[in-house]
Formats: sequence, C-alpha cells, structure tokens
Amino acid sequence: MATNQAISNALARLGIGAVGSVYIGVWDGYAVTVRHGAPYYYLDFAVRLDPRDRSIAKSIRAELKAGQPKTILGCVNRGDHLKCTITLEKKTPYADQFSAALDAIAQALRSRDVLPAQTCAVCGREHPDSLCLIDGYQPVHAACVQAVTETTKHAAEADERKESYLTGFIGAVIGAFIGLEPCLLSILLFDRIYTVLFALVPLCAMWGYRRFRGKRSGASIVIIILLSLAGVVLLEFLAVAISFKQELGLTLVPAMRYTLNYLFTRVGVGVMLQESLTELLVMAIGIFVAWAFLAQNNHNPVSQANAVRHSLHPIYGGKDDPEWLEK
Ligand SMILES: [Zn+2]
Repeated sequence: MATNQAISNALARLGIGAVGSVYIGVWDGYAVTVRHGAPYYYLDFAVRLDPRDRSIAKSIRAELKAGQPKTILGCVNRGDHLKCTITLEKKTPYADQFSAALDAIAQALRSRDVLPAQTCAVCGREHPDSLCLIDGYQPVHAACVQAVTETTKHAAEADERKESYLTGFIGAVIGAFIGLEPCLLSILLFDRIYTVLFALVPLCAMWGYRRFRGKRSGASIVIIILLSLAGVVLLEFLAVAISFKQELGLTLVPAMRYTLNYLFTRVGVGVMLQESLTELLVMAIGIFVAWAFLAQNNHNPVSQANAVRHSLHPIYGGKDDPEWLEK
C-alpha cells in the first residue's frame, strides 16, 4: 500500500498540499480536496449542482470508467461538490495516476458545462474572493468565513466559561455511583462480583463528567481514573466484608468493621491487590474507552475555527501556487 509520505509527495508535485489529514489545491480552475479512506482516495471537485440531479454523476461515471484512467471507481453528486472515488496501482507513479484522474474528471465536468463553483460556500452569493477548507475546499468570501469562525469562537468561549472541574467532578462521582450499582447489586444479591460490570464504572463516571459540564482537558481522565480506582477499592472491601459475614456468621456492620481492621494488615493489602487484579484490568478497558471518547470530544471548537481560518487563502490564478501550504 502507498505510504502517506509517497502520496503526500506525489500530490505536492501536482500543487496539491496537505492541510491536516486532507490535501487541497486547484486543478484546472476547480478547488479540489483529496481525502484518503483506505483503500480508496476521494477526489472532491467544488461545483454547484442540483443535489437531486443524478444523471450528471451517472454519465460522468460511465464515461470515466469506459475510458482512461482505469483507476476511477465511482462518482457521486453531493451538490456543492462532485465526489469521485479512485484506487491506485503500484506500477505507475502515483503523481501520474492522480493527474490522469484529475484531468479526466475536470474534462468530463467542463464538457458538460459544469464549471468551477462561482458562489460562496457560506452565503451562496456570487464573486467569491478566496478559497477555504470549509466542508471541503471551496470558494468563499473571506469576510463570510471570518464572520462564521468569529461566531463559532464566541459561542465556544461562552460554553467554555460555563465548564468547571468542580461540577464535572460532582457529575463524575454521581456517574461512578450509578456505574457501581450493578456491581453492588450482584454482590448483595448473589454474593459475588461479576468482573465484566467493572467496565461500567469509568464509562458512567465519564458520562457524569460531561453531563455536568466538566472542563474539557487532560485532567478529566485523571479524575475518572481516580474515581474508578476508588470504586474498585470500595467494591473489593464490600466483597471481603460479605465473605467474612458468611464465614464468621456476623451481621454486615461488624463484618465491615472486621474487614477494615483486616485490610490494614500487610496480608490484607496483598490479598486485596491480588483479588482485584482482574477487576482493575476490566476497568482499564472501560477507562480506555472513556479516554478515547473524551479525546474525541475534548476537541476545542476554537482550534477547529482557527484551522478553517488558517486554510483561507485568496483565489489565485494558476494551479501551481502551493507555497502557503508549507507554512
Ligand atoms: Zn459569502
């Protein structure tokens, strides 16, 4: 399979540069976005089509598949862009394959009078003055993008001011308790721990944290890990107390007191660590899932707005002016 570096180099030779995980550039006057979704590549041409019209994409697909290049697999009309799926083969240089595909698509569009998009992707009015990576690489008015990103930033900042560690922590404690419920019930009703239920503790803590507007930052996962560990200790304590209750014929409260004394001995701590190893492992899986979710949702909308602003560039004449992309 083609490495990212090889693809990046091939596209750079064509004046199509990387911005984040996509590549953008101008081809024969069309603003083009290239995305990679293994094993395919998607070439998006910014146009203005009636999204209900299927005939154009269909006829272009038929034309491209019949002729050169063989790498083109399909075309879909998405209204503000024509999306073509291509695949690359190893034998021919990637740059040649991309350029053949881009040429074929641009020609097919021009022969049907589907010209490069002439209206702003934000306001829909004519005479766009810039190009911007906003839902694909598209013509826009610089002022429109600035207005939209400013609004997003203000809204995000207002949202962020409402977030706090304190409310998040309270939410996470409540969530962790909810997550502990099934484990507690299984201990109280069946006198045993179902290890798999432990994964619920960090997941519910994470849910509570977000629900109570916990601040979005790396510290959120630390709070969730600490609460989950506290949950394991609490449950293990209860499980040991119940086993003492049965073995020694005590009622629950004296059994808990007995457990507390027992756990403060070195043997007790060792036994507890050993017993809770599987629970900790299962919980780690839950923590990992919670972490992945938080990492995805902790995205700061302000930095996303900044990324959109960063890709904003005045419309230029030629297709080979990618210098700004290297910045
Ligand atoms: Zn506009």
